[in-house]
Amino acid sequence: MIQFENASKQFNDGTNAVKSLNFTINKGEFFVLIGPSGSGKTTTLKMINRLIDISDGTIFINGKKISDYDIHELRWSIGYVLQQIALFPHMSIEENIAIVPEMKNWNKEKIRKRVDELLEMVGLEPETYRHRKPSELSGGQQQRIGVARALAAEPEIIIMDEPFSALDPITREKLQDDILKLQKSIKKTIVFVTHDMQEALKLGDRICIMKDGQIVQIGTPDELIYNPTNEYVKEFIGKVDGADESFKFIIEEVLTNITDIDSNEKPIGVIPNTSSLKKTLEVLSNQEQIGVEKEGEIIGYIDRQSMIQHLLNNMKEGETE
Ligand code: ADP
Ligand code: MG
Repeated sequence: MIQFENASKQFNDGTNAVKSLNFTINKGEFFVLIGPSGSGKTTTLKMINRLIDISDGTIFINGKKISDYDIHELRWSIGYVLQQIALFPHMSIEENIAIVPEMKNWNKEKIRKRVDELLEMVGLEPETYRHRKPSELSGGQQQRIGVARALAAEPEIIIMDEPFSALDPITREKLQDDILKLQKSIKKTIVFVTHDMQEALKLGDRICIMKDGQIVQIGTPDELIYNPTNEYVKEFIGKVDGADESFKFIIEEVLTNITDIDSNEKPIGVIPNTSSLKKTLEVLSNQEQIGVEKEGEIIGYIDRQSMIQHLLNNMKEGETE
């Protein structure tokens, strides 16, 4: 679907922002680019719709070089959602959403229907919101309009550059849930940039970890957690809020000391001590007992029975979510 072939970007001042990227994003995939500030995420994203020109190599979309597309055709077939809310303040919500359909000369009736459909899709009642100005909406609602606008002309691909990072945690989580649901139903290819690992693990079918304009690892959330390619990835994963938190109580209260285990009963599986509670439960559903590893060393064991006991004693509603 989107295929990077030695794609590089050197800016005029000599900065090598992106160095020879080679990877493929599949059709219908939710693909997340993550990395620290300056690692080349935005540059990579903007090369896809030619907001930034590639200096070396190329990108193919559906087998055709992006340089062979008419630039307007290319831009219109790729929805773009930015971090900062980028609605036109003097235009109504309806007009903001209709920008690309207008450029594509859709007829008035088709546009009106599409706007209604999109407002409903992003959870805003059309009658209430279509005539409002952006300033009459909350930040979260405005960002929903940003998503609706990107979807307006039914693009095959949507690229999103840290779209939720300016929002408060609750609104942000709600929008994450919604975009996941939306993607499942409309099956678009989404390329999503974030610097938040938790967001990446939640949303991504696959995650691409970048550093200094290069790819460190691409994998599913599970692959990154269980087979990090190096310390850099490990550390990145370790930064997930709550990963340590959710496990800490297990370490304190459930972990069986290594010496208490009969060597004949050695567990087969080992999980890192940074695993989420949810993952731990998943593994324990197939195995009576698992080892817990910290920095390459087994620090103890968890068995299903003591875990269940612990949860029964401590379970609050929604705690495993
Ligand atoms: P990220 O989105 O991961 O924070 P960017 O892709 O924006 O990273 O930037 C990657 C590198 O390219 C950084 O070192 C940044 O300073 C540099 N860069 C970005 N845009 C330009 C530009 N227009 N001119 C020169 N250097 C740039
Ligand atoms: Mg950026």
